[in-house]
Amino acid sequence: MKPADRIELFTRFKAANPKPVTELEYQTPFELLAAVLLSAQATDRSVNAATRVLFAAARTPSAILALGVEGLEPYLRTIGLYRSKTKHLIETCAILVQTHGGEVPRDRAALEALPGVGRKTANVVLNTAFGEPTMAVDTHIFRVSNRLKLALGRTPRTVEDGLMRAIPPDFLVDAHHWLILHGRYICKARKPECWRCPVSDLCPFRPKTPDPQTADAPSTRASVKASRPTTPASRRRVQSES
Ligand code: SF4
Repeated sequence: MKPADRIELFTRFKAANPKPVTELEYQTPFELLAAVLLSAQATDRSVNAATRVLFAAARTPSAILALGVEGLEPYLRTIGLYRSKTKHLIETCAILVQTHGGEVPRDRAALEALPGVGRKTANVVLNTAFGEPTMAVDTHIFRVSNRLKLALGRTPRTVEDGLMRAIPPDFLVDAHHWLILHGRYICKARKPECWRCPVSDLCPFRPKTPDPQTADAPSTRASVKASRPTTPASRRRVQSES
């Protein structure tokens, strides 16, 4: 995508949603870290439903650590992979308490050293809790970036690096949320809703999905097809008549 188109792309995203936010509910960096850790292969909705109850009872690393695995597990049962996530969250809380004074470190290496926290989670925390210009490439961002040819790649890391180079600096902090929301609600995996996409004219993806409201109805298509001349002789007839 050309530099001018990249600026136009994010200008439109910003105009439509000037202050994009994560759909995960949180009040502190620790709550965000816990929510993101729990969100792997789970919907934000299911994580929010669980953390609303959990954070009302325990919202700090020491409070969750005090629950122990047996005490924490019932809060997380409705989330996919809850057993391993319970274990990781307890281990993460123990490290935060023992090594970081109960605070979430604003440091990539320290974050990635926490159990259950990979590069993507660290990027989300650095970006959303601390306002750093990082790019967490999830399935939505990966797809949208490739379709738009904003950053091409076969791995999340390649796309992340490409996006960091491609996105104009003024838009970098919020780009993560704009791209996720665009992928989640418009540029969907199986059927992108190109007919209502605000950046359709900038997007090289083909074929574009037509508006189902205005697409030809089957009966209309059939009548058009039936009226087309099908043999060379009939085509010549139509041409000579017109
Ligand atoms: S035009 Fe379609 S494929 Fe391109 S970004 Fe928009 S929704 Fe996605």
